Amino acid sequence: MIIHTKENTAAEVVSEMTASLKAISFQQDAQTIIVTSSSLKEVPSQYAEHIDEYWVMESDIQLASKSYLNERRNVQLGNTTIGGNTNNTMVVAGPCSVESEEQIEQSAVFMDSLGVHGFRGGAFKPRTSPYSFQGLGKEGLQLLAKMRDKYGFVVFSEVRDATHVADVIEYADVIQIGAKSMYDHGILRACAQTRKPVMIKRGFGTSLQEFVQAAEFVLSGGNPNVILCERGIRTFETKTRFTLDLCGVAWLKENTNLPIILDPSHALGYRYGISDLSKACMAMGIDGLLIEVHPNPAVAKSDASQQLYHDQFKQLLTELEPVANAVNRNLV
Ligand code: PEP
Ligand code: MN
Repeated sequence: MIIHTKENTAAEVVSEMTASLKAISFQQDAQTIIVTSSSLKEVPSQYAEHIDEYWVMESDIQLASKSYLNERRNVQLGNTTIGGNTNNTMVVAGPCSVESEEQIEQSAVFMDSLGVHGFRGGAFKPRTSPYSFQGLGKEGLQLLAKMRDKYGFVVFSEVRDATHVADVIEYADVIQIGAKSMYDHGILRACAQTRKPVMIKRGFGTSLQEFVQAAEFVLSGGNPNVILCERGIRTFETKTRFTLDLCGVAWLKENTNLPIILDPSHALGYRYGISDLSKACMAMGIDGLLIEVHPNPAVAKSDASQQLYHDQFKQLLTELEPVANAVNRNLV
């Protein structure tokens, strides 16, 4: 159950209600919000006088649900807003990893020339092998920040584990929680304490319920700036790297109030279909597209087979435009 307390409810009363209902409470603007387990179906009569509004919830998808907030939340990304009533779809592109100053500058110059505002690059890479390139760490974040200062990008970068979450919060504009870290409570709880936007990628073996509950950890800590990212789940299919769950996206759009970004690059795992998939994603009327692009994918230190060459990405943007127009989205 979600409870909005009356305006002048004393802090001690909020604390007592929170403790006795085994709930979480936080402040959103002037509103105090208490969230209990969804198993609570009736307002405890002793607290009725302090309650302004309440919502009985079906499951622990609560703050993220349409039953609580029947509209898409908006999230401010630099000078741009996604979600809400905007119809904006932000293109976020860049290499899988920040590899060197030369590589990231080449990427940045190219994205800037195309008017792309969202710039991605992993500095802390959660690789499946300890012997693969692990990222440049803080140095990579500093290079991304340098590109932001030069070109005005909104920088997306990933947190690999809770030990460096403060660095990513400091240098990136959007904190990316990767598919492999979706369950990392150290990261989720740290991201709940900041007000910077957080993009949570769906774990490839997680249900939609688990995915959105990860977002609840951030929302219930008082950070409303949460974006969901579908990037493919693992199925029986082995010809493609993962399976992009567009049915899941339809479900998320229908049942949750969070902006949604789709990542066709990690889903397919190969360059050849990224353009087609991007158009399919756009046709779903989503809030952003995350695409891996590298100045020279053949020598990329991670995800070499899926990163687009610059000319392929330029062509993709040209092809995306009419689809965006057809579904009334603005590419930003
Ligand atoms: C990435 O965006 O480079 C990445 C590692 O993605 P995912 O967490 O979806 O695997
Ligand atoms: Mn990658």
